[in-house]
Amino acid sequence: MAAITLLNSGGLSYAQSGDPGLERFRAIYKELVETNTTLSAGDCTLAARRMADRLKAAGYPDQDLRVFVPDGHPKEGGLLAVLHGSDPAAKAILLLSHVDVVEAKREDWTRDPFIMIEENGYFYGRGTNDMKAQVAVWVDNMIRFREENFKPKRSIKLALTCGEETNSALNGAGWLAANERQAIDAEFAITEGAASELDAKGHRVALAVLAAEKTSQNFVLEVTNPGGHSSRPVADNAIYHLVRAIDRISRYEFPVQLNDANRAYFTSMSKIVEGEAGTAMAAVVKNPDDAASVAVLDRNQNWHAMLRTTCVATMLSAGHATNALPQRATANINCRIFPGVSRDVVLAQLVKIAADPAVGVTIPEVRGPVAAPTPLTPQIMKPIEKLADEMWPGVPVVPVLEPGASDAQFMNPAGIPTYGIDGLFQDPDGGNIHGLNERIRVKSVYEGRTFLYRLVKLYADQ
Ligand SMILES: [Zn+2]
Repeated sequence: MAAITLLNSGGLSYAQSGDPGLERFRAIYKELVETNTTLSAGDCTLAARRMADRLKAAGYPDQDLRVFVPDGHPKEGGLLAVLHGSDPAAKAILLLSHVDVVEAKREDWTRDPFIMIEENGYFYGRGTNDMKAQVAVWVDNMIRFREENFKPKRSIKLALTCGEETNSALNGAGWLAANERQAIDAEFAITEGAASELDAKGHRVALAVLAAEKTSQNFVLEVTNPGGHSSRPVADNAIYHLVRAIDRISRYEFPVQLNDANRAYFTSMSKIVEGEAGTAMAAVVKNPDDAASVAVLDRNQNWHAMLRTTCVATMLSAGHATNALPQRATANINCRIFPGVSRDVVLAQLVKIAADPAVGVTIPEVRGPVAAPTPLTPQIMKPIEKLADEMWPGVPVVPVLEPGASDAQFMNPAGIPTYGIDGLFQDPDGGNIHGLNERIRVKSVYEGRTFLYRLVKLYADQ
């Protein structure tokens, strides 16, 4: 209840702030949410065209705006736009966002997921949180910069893409990296963040900066065998070979690794997290071989995953008849590879752990290069820290190594270091993104808008 009261007062003060751009921003946001961009029934190209129209109305000339549509994917297009900088020697910064959203069924939701509703201090609707608030902020930023006649040192590029939410879909960011590398060339990119947290009472815990991601890679374990009749079993059984190998993998932990992102995360969090876990964080940063402290952190699945490469069995398939000795047994092992570690190193390690020449280990498909480590330079961190200090004094800035993956997985290997920065503070449940009645706090959106507007200006003049 306290949280709701706090938010209502926050909402009022924004409404009374007399910011003439706020209504327009809200209209952009609403238009985006109400343009269905699901893979099944939606149209990213339409959303891109609508945003292009808004930029054009703000004065962007045609040559600085481009709706792109990959061949054979008429509804999976996106938008490229640029505000030119004054220094041709300075590299651009790239504002990157996906406009597609996860599927949402009308019958499952309390209300139409593609109508944006504001109620009790929240915006509701598919994509309100992931990630159309930030898309709206980027478009709003570009419009404001133009109207103000802002002449930054660096060019500011905008790329809106499709296909982030569906693994099998064409990924717009990947497509740009492969086909329009020059158009998106930048010193670094900013995209969706790592869920800056609010506690249950609505107090800000930390401002998260997504500084690195792991690479998802599948490996297939396979055992083949001549088989035979199940009435006369033999020890050399394909299923037994496979399950023993899987069992050994299940008990193996990859070594702890530290990079800029998780070192900074555990250093910052050691000051926030109390008790044994906080102490363990400080200890592991000093000495990653401190097994007792590592064991404390490993009890938390998120911290466990942030510390190392992980591999886990996700699918099994074996045998061809209930009365036959199996001729084939296979398993899928999904690994999340620590930034900078090669696939071949993980493959060699899996072969070693499986420790059975009967078990073949192969890589079924490669989606792209493995994630390179992204450096947390003062150039990136200083402006964030300065603004956080002004807007949210006392709230720490915490870099995060994300065990999952975003569009940064396509940008980092293309040589554009990509950071997840949004300043959009989230409820402890993350606003139920990808789920029912997705939502985000109104106050979070409006504050995030201010934060990102100021941050991009600081970056663009560096
Ligand atoms: Zn997203």
